[in-house]
Amino acid sequence: MSTPVLELRALTRTHGSGVAEVHALRGVDLTVRAGELVAVMGPSGSGKSTLLTLAGGLDTATGGEILIEGQPLSGLDRKGLAALRRRSVGYVFQDYNLIPALTAAENIALPRELDGVPVRKAREEAVAALEEMGLAEVADRFPDEMSGGQQQRVAIARALVGDRRLVLADEPTGALDSETGETVLAMLRGRCDAGAAGVMVTHEPRYAAWADRVVFLRDGTLIDQTLTSDADSLLATAEGTR
Ligand code: ADP
Ligand code: MG
Repeated sequence: MSTPVLELRALTRTHGSGVAEVHALRGVDLTVRAGELVAVMGPSGSGKSTLLTLAGGLDTATGGEILIEGQPLSGLDRKGLAALRRRSVGYVFQDYNLIPALTAAENIALPRELDGVPVRKAREEAVAALEEMGLAEVADRFPDEMSGGQQQRVAIARALVGDRRLVLADEPTGALDSETGETVLAMLRGRCDAGAAGVMVTHEPRYAAWADRVVFLRDGTLIDQTLTSDADSLLATAEGTR
């Protein structure tokens, strides 16, 4: 089989020390291959966002190892990590994280330009990504001139542009109505079908149903993995962890 796009091995993340110690993740193993979309579910505080930020190289593990396309993140210096993040990882934040001083198209083009793509090509890619999201009209608008749902879709377009192999999304459908939410899931699904690996945090069983597998976190531990083809047990388990 091919090298997994994402591999988490015995991953732990502890915040603070002594009585204030919080075990956000307690030894999580997870492998995601090209073509797979994995949904992460679990109650608030169970470690879902921690898992995603670690997998995206945005936070440092306390223990264990993260490999992206076979490359252990612990073997990279800051510059190498930043380059790998820009090139291989698309990240959709829970609160969008658009840069307020840049337009929608500029927000999408920026990581590409940082990676050496010529300005004009990066702009063309950005406009195409916006069109794919049904958002061509917001290309030259600033974040504060867009609705929450538009900002969220711009953030998703930014994560998907440039053929990144690993797409990580933290509740990407949070601010979206259900129709737009389905559009976003269809795009994530399509990107994975085209060879990316995706990990998405969601509270909604109807969105999780787009994934190939659902993993459930509780208190920093991965308690179960379910194939979404087994929908009945998925829904039963989702109800139990909400
Ligand atoms: P979820 O996304 O599932 O709601 P998180 O990954 O955000 O959960 O948080 C997991 C646990 O780690 C929670 O108990 C949270 O309070 C704690 N935590 C997260 N980030 C920090 C931090 N920077 N400092 C201290 N505790 C944190
Ligand atoms: Mg969270």
